[in-house]
Amino acid sequence: MQGLSGMNPDNIDLTKLIKSLKEGVVVHDVSTKILYANPSALDILRLTEEQVLGKSALDPEWRFIDSNYKLLSHQDYPVNRVLAKQKEIENLEIGICDSTSDSVTWVLCNAFPQFNSQGNIEQIVVSFLDITSQKTKISFEDIVAHANDVIVVTEASPIESDGPKIVYVNNAFCDLTGYTASEVIGKTPRILQGPDTSCEVKKRVRKALSEKTTTRERILNYTKSGVPYWLDMNIFPLMDEWGEVSYFAAVERDATLQVEKEQKLKVIANKDSLTGLYNRRGFYELAYKKIISQAKENQMALAILDIDFFKKINDSFGHECGDTALVELVGKLNEEFGEPNLLCRFGGEEFLILLTETDLEAAKVKLESFRKGVASSPLNLSSDVSTTMTVSLGLAQVKSGSRAIETAIKNADKALYEAKRTGRNKVCIAKS
Ligand code: GH3
Ligand code: MG
Ligand code: MG
Repeated sequence: MQGLSGMNPDNIDLTKLIKSLKEGVVVHDVSTKILYANPSALDILRLTEEQVLGKSALDPEWRFIDSNYKLLSHQDYPVNRVLAKQKEIENLEIGICDSTSDSVTWVLCNAFPQFNSQGNIEQIVVSFLDITSQKTKISFEDIVAHANDVIVVTEASPIESDGPKIVYVNNAFCDLTGYTASEVIGKTPRILQGPDTSCEVKKRVRKALSEKTTTRERILNYTKSGVPYWLDMNIFPLMDEWGEVSYFAAVERDATLQVEKEQKLKVIANKDSLTGLYNRRGFYELAYKKIISQAKENQMALAILDIDFFKKINDSFGHECGDTALVELVGKLNEEFGEPNLLCRFGGEEFLILLTETDLEAAKVKLESFRKGVASSPLNLSSDVSTTMTVSLGLAQVKSGSRAIETAIKNADKALYEAKRTGRNKVCIAKS
């Protein structure tokens, strides 16, 4: 049997072959006018020969869309792309729509130029294979619409000014935010942001969008009725057939419960369970925030308070009564040194008092008054146990600098040692 390579091409009826192809073949001249369309092309385009021949590619009877359902502009039509770039297009997926049907015919399109002997394009041959049945086997649109995760698609620009417009939201978005799709389409996702949405996060998202990269962020958004919720969002660019970013898609998940859990754990990690005061970790974190935000220098003082002869209270009345004494004392500290001051259980029966907006002299006056109050009031440890207690305090100024708190603690501790050494039940100021 003779193989194809041995066939004489003159014996092949090419016209017949093109007519019997399953692939649609359309030949345009350089003005995009259609010179020829084979029967499969007419079938796929749902048109007759009379409706096609002599028509330009720009005829309004048909429209093309890309795989994101975006209408192709005239310059993106395959024939015009070939004319503009002077080279072929391979395996481009496009949808064909026309006024006769709601459904889209999806085709895999190839197009190439035919040059004349002068090297100019004479004709453009466009061929396309109907792939609608493969395309529609899995409805990705249905999957996206009914996914539990929130899915939002926006245009690719503008990033600055009003922000990119929303072109698609799924059902989960509407359930979470309380907005209907028609209320948000055409608006920017920035309508979901509110007073407590972090500026840092917003900046990072904008930067990623302008660089057209993928980004993951946790952001605070607001529902239509103003209820805040946390979102873990993953934003990524969607490319069109030409490799250009035409949209951004965001896949988002409600992280409110997760954030609440994390916040609770953070409170547990940063607080002392007996007294409810900040432990060292929690104190350092907040103290440094206060230092950064303080308006004037030398307006912060730090004291260490240590209970005098606390061991005796434990030894005389038991450990439980000792705990009660600590809680009673913290009650008094909270009353006297509430916001914006900061309290900390530094160790067993040692406490830190950060006095903000207070110079050293004023701090000394307040602490003296507190010391006297403790010494002069009875300490009820149970229904039938009442005693008294005194405290010693060392006081130091908080200066600026990266280790401002550690330095102040060291200085205050020296002053506390002095208070203990010289008789207890007193406030001593650190020498500067
Ligand atoms: P001074 O400070 O005046 O020198 O005497 P002190 O008796 O207070 O001395 P010290 O600092 O050595 O003792 C502190 C005691 O505090 C020792 C420890 O058993 C007790 N203590 C530490 N933490 C707790 C606590 O959570 N509960 C109770 N009940 N006692 C505690
Ligand atoms: Mg002590
Ligand atoms: Mg003590």
